[in-house]
Amino acid sequence: MDDSTSVTQVDVAIVGAGPIGLCFANALSRHGVSSVLIDRQPRAAMVDPASDGREIALTRASQQILDKLGVWSRVEPSERARMRAAKVFDGQSLFAMQIAPGAAKDEPLGCLVPNQVIRRSAYAALQTAAPGQGEIVWRDKHEIAQFQTSDAAVDIVLDNEERIHASLLVAADSRFSTTRRAMGIPAHTYQHGQHMLVCRMHHDEPHDQTAWEWFGYGQTLALLPVDTHCSSLVLTLSPAAMEKQLSLTAEAFDADITRRFAGRLGAMRRVAEPHRYPLVSVYAERFVGQRQALIGDAAVGMHPVTAHGFNLGLQGLSRLADLIGDAHARGQDIASPSLLKRYQREQRLATAPLFAATLAIVGLYTDDRTPAKWLRRAVLRAGEAAWPVKRMIAGHLMRSSG
Ligand SMILES: Cc1cc2nc3c(=O)[nH]c(=O)nc-3n(C[C@H](O)[C@H](O)[C@H](O)COP(=O)(O)OP(=O)(O)OC[C@H]3O[C@@H](n4cnc5c(N)ncnc54)[C@H](O)[C@@H]3O)c2cc1C
Repeated sequence: MDDSTSVTQVDVAIVGAGPIGLCFANALSRHGVSSVLIDRQPRAAMVDPASDGREIALTRASQQILDKLGVWSRVEPSERARMRAAKVFDGQSLFAMQIAPGAAKDEPLGCLVPNQVIRRSAYAALQTAAPGQGEIVWRDKHEIAQFQTSDAAVDIVLDNEERIHASLLVAADSRFSTTRRAMGIPAHTYQHGQHMLVCRMHHDEPHDQTAWEWFGYGQTLALLPVDTHCSSLVLTLSPAAMEKQLSLTAEAFDADITRRFAGRLGAMRRVAEPHRYPLVSVYAERFVGQRQALIGDAAVGMHPVTAHGFNLGLQGLSRLADLIGDAHARGQDIASPSLLKRYQREQRLATAPLFAATLAIVGLYTDDRTPAKWLRRAVLRAGEAAWPVKRMIAGHLMRSSG
């Protein structure tokens, strides 16, 4: 590497200023740790992000982390939708397993916030660093060209040849992370062979702030409550069926979705542009390397059906930021092998069971052969009868951080 150019010195270099990268830089800053945020997008796209159709179901623990980071207070009350309960249907049966906090509690199961709002609020919260907080340097519209790690540091060269010297390099650049690949970290990748469509729909009947998950045959449907007569539609289909769905006129689309929901919420009408996502789940073989770590979707890219990708990512970034903050306060190495191994151990324990359970659910509910249909009916009825199962699901959504 050429020594003639000036070098930017920071504690941590973060690739990816998505919701996870932004919150991680924020958490580090509150521990007095400096960072550089490198993203290929321009900052203007982060100040006022475009809608991507995703409504993020946030657990109570996630709301607490966002609150600590000054993000939650920037989400307007009108942008938070309460999820009072959830119903899970199978096939044409009218039977539904109901998940609710319990009669004594009037607290919601969770809260839905558009991803666009989370990203906007996470960016805005970074702009208010107080004295004593770690500096956050921006390198938007850039990517890493190359990097080298040694026992002592990471040396990075950006695509404009600028050099950065850091103690730790963190990849937060999505489930398709090129930084993870450049680190030489393999990932288990599951192509589900399906596409997911998300968009807001108006419906004549109210939803009573209840989320619906409906495993039909050849399709999976969900409705996430937004406003009394508005929900976010989540439709999963094969790529060919999705192509057909998206080629429908607005009227035909509305009629088709009303029919798919068997008119249970009356006539339905699209009120926002649909967004399509090919479904791919990813689990990295390692979350750390020499002076390297993965966070967010770069570490664990969940299937959206259990709505946990961002929630698990938040837990992970706050775990790693706390370990780094502690080491920094004691004057120790913030990227020692023992620190990184501890992060990896704890984050794998927190994510592996949910990742495996989500894959099992996806497998069971997208298999339309008769034995699978019997099994899922039995699972739903067992879940309905066995209150501990439902309590476990509700408890997971409502658990507080710490
Ligand atoms: C339809 C859908 C619904 C979902 N619902 C939920 C839910 O209800 N609850 C929940 O918890 N999670 C949910 N998720 C998951 C959640 O959206 C993700 O976990 C979260 O967005 C991950 O954030 P991230 O910052 O890790 O990655 P991303 O949001 O993918 O951001 C990555 C960033 O890295 C940048 N980048 C990429 N490559 C490079 C590069 N080479 N160099 C520089 N920058 C780069 C990108 O520009 C971007 O800014 C859902 C996901 C989908 C698709």
